[in-house]
Amino acid sequence: MILVLVEHEGGATTELTSQALAFGRSLAGDEPVDCVACIAPSQEIATDELGPGTLHLAEHDAYASLAPDAVAATVAGVVERTGARAVVAPGSDTGNDVLARVAARLDQPLASNCVAATAGEPARVTRTRWGGSLLEEAELDGAPLLLTVQPHAVAADVAGAPVAGVERFTPVLADADLAVRVADRVEAAGSGIALADANVVVSGGRGVGSTEGFAIIEELAGLLGAAVGCSRAVTMAGWRPHTDQVGQTGTKIAPELYIPCGISGATQHMAGCKGAKRILAIVDDAEAPILAGADYAVIGDLHEIVPAISAELRKARGS
Ligand code: FAD
Repeated sequence: MILVLVEHEGGATTELTSQALAFGRSLAGDEPVDCVACIAPSQEIATDELGPGTLHLAEHDAYASLAPDAVAATVAGVVERTGARAVVAPGSDTGNDVLARVAARLDQPLASNCVAATAGEPARVTRTRWGGSLLEEAELDGAPLLLTVQPHAVAADVAGAPVAGVERFTPVLADADLAVRVADRVEAAGSGIALADANVVVSGGRGVGSTEGFAIIEELAGLLGAAVGCSRAVTMAGWRPHTDQVGQTGTKIAPELYIPCGISGATQHMAGCKGAKRILAIVDDAEAPILAGADYAVIGDLHEIVPAISAELRKARGS
């Protein structure tokens, strides 16, 4: 049996969970695929796409906020009880965190950010390294195999069936399992569109020039219903918060359209946007590396081009 860790928000399973399920099902072949989820007693989660295996549903007050050791203890417990051959988790920050803790508990290796895996002894995995700039082929010995799935590398499995059954249980947790937990959440200021899930992202780089310079980036993003991103040069300058940073040490995005403005296209930046379906680069340097990865480009001063695009959009919409 393959066990998939379910992440959920407001009762709905996340997009990255659907990708992990697709990965788990392709690894399983004819084997069953079960799921494990952790909820607080006041919560419920949708089960209609998690089947046709069993959902092992752990209920505990500890899950009201994120407590990665508590989730890891529960996952390890389900593995021991069921003899799962592999555990697959979403490649989110949380999924990687939890599965690393599961690996430590079970004294097994973890292969993170996998894009493909083939069962066997040993199993073979392909995974991204160095911020996505290379693919590593590796052999993985493990019982169970522990894998997280590189975000947006696998199409989400939306053809899931309802679960065959739900096994609810209350795990016994030690005090140490609760030592690390999220105590508070502060909503980020901004458009409210999450960078990681946005269909369109407009980013600014050093070429934007200042905090105030982002007004034209925000205006264009607002017109396109887009999230605002930025490069690390921008966060280092303190013009935007780190939560807006796209790249190897920022958020990995996979929008339908990415519009980097005044960004040169360093490998560490491209590592975060290689999942974009289309890239429209706006930059004044015809030799900038971003152009190698762009589908469309406008070469020139973003301070003229970005407001001109916004003006055209307003004109086309009659506003
Ligand atoms: P620059 O490289 O300075 O490029 C600015 C571009 O804007 C230039 O092409 C310039 O010609 C153009 N420009 C200037 N003025 C205008 C104008 N008026 N109109 C149009 N174009 C204009 N970077 C990230 O972005 N994300 C990461 O997650 C990240 N992680 C990193 C991790 C490590 C370990 C390291 C070492 C680096 C990392 N970096 C990351 C930094 C990365 O190497 C680059 O330094 C950074 O991406 C550069 O940002 P930039 O493109 O905005 O600036």
